[in-house]
Amino acid sequence: MKEIFPIPPAIVQNEFEKVRELFKSNVIPSYGRFELVFSHGQGSYLFDVGGRPYLDLGSGIAVCCLGHAHPAITEALVEQSRKLIHVSNLYFTEPQGRLAAELVRRIGPGKCFFANSGAEANEGLFKVARKFGHDEGRFEILTAVNSFHGRTLAGIAATGQDKVKKGFEPIMPGFRYIPFNDLAAARAAISPATAAIMIEGVQGEGGVTPATPEYLVGLRALCDEKKLLLLMDGVQCGHYRTGRFQSFQRILEGVPGGEGFLPDGLSMAKSLGGGFPIGAFWVRSPYADLLGPGTHGSTYGGTPLACAVALRILEVIEAEQLAGNARQLGEWLANELDRLARQYPTVVKRVRGLGFMLGIELAENIPGFAGSDKTAALQFVNRLHLSGVLSVPAGTQIVRLLPPLNLKPQEAGEGITLIEEIVKSLV
Ligand SMILES: *Cc1c(COP(=O)(O)O)cnc(C)c1O
Repeated sequence: MKEIFPIPPAIVQNEFEKVRELFKSNVIPSYGRFELVFSHGQGSYLFDVGGRPYLDLGSGIAVCCLGHAHPAITEALVEQSRKLIHVSNLYFTEPQGRLAAELVRRIGPGKCFFANSGAEANEGLFKVARKFGHDEGRFEILTAVNSFHGRTLAGIAATGQDKVKKGFEPIMPGFRYIPFNDLAAARAAISPATAAIMIEGVQGEGGVTPATPEYLVGLRALCDEKKLLLLMDGVQCGHYRTGRFQSFQRILEGVPGGEGFLPDGLSMAKSLGGGFPIGAFWVRSPYADLLGPGTHGSTYGGTPLACAVALRILEVIEAEQLAGNARQLGEWLANELDRLARQYPTVVKRVRGLGFMLGIELAENIPGFAGSDKTAALQFVNRLHLSGVLSVPAGTQIVRLLPPLNLKPQEAGEGITLIEEIVKSLV
């Protein structure tokens, strides 16, 4: 008798299941992942293994600042890898020196150290603060409630959110938390052991909350008065995302007392390498030599390959005036989202953020989300996936848009249309 086989499932589904199986058996399940498997990207679009396009308004969490498969990044990788990928930091290489100079030129007088990620960049700043306070017995760093500074042991200690610390106690000592944008609370929290205050210019994971100009100017004065270092984590909000190289430059535009504002230390990563891993921190000149020979290091930090990519990205951002794009198109996006908040207040509460770092704050008790135990942010992000749009949840109520800096107006329009359709369906 002839055997009858069931119709095989689509090849696509096999591909998806195959990857899912590989992860299930072999990858440590430390991430809550969405049910999407991507195979390639082009510009502002990612393609899943079935070939379906997704408008990428998350850019790998503010990383792929030139979108996907940008030819300038490919060229830089190819050209530099033909010459030199790595030598140890026992030696000098030109790309590292040039990248440091480009960063210093954009921030202010000081020097840079190169690492491979945001958490590592912050670790370096913590060490600067420890070294700074060491001879006076000061070591403590004040950080903000709802901040995020990375997943290393010091990073989770610095992060002002309990969920990242759970199960990893004892937490590394030396960090205390102050409410964000509350200058009086910062002053009150300073102890004889305090050496530094670290904040994000715009809190990212905490839900897209920009520092107020008064807070920045006030913290600067407070740190000067109390002889503390003012450290800023620019890992997510930096690299032109807000329309200026660093968010504090944008926030303090035209603000009396904000002219010449500089932190004492600044960490960078994410968009710095456009997807190639690189992190960096800058230290203002009076303190730039605190970490002397032998005090800090990283095998991979500042390889010629990573630095060549970062240099090329800076060139493209300038040549194509992408800071202006983030500012103008970001404002258009924010206005459109504001309109949604006015038209559909039972779904969108308000929009927050600057430039291409925007948070859609969802209303409580959205009718269309009733009966699910998933957070509103997760449910909204899932609906966006079904419409072919990628975004990033933050907390329970916020959906972040962190598009590539070269997002096109027509792509922004497509995003808003699809977002509006979902909002409408939830009323
Ligand atoms: C992502 C992030 C980090 C950590 O960067 P990693 O590269 O993941 O280590 C630190 N600070 C902020 C503000 C971030 O958004």
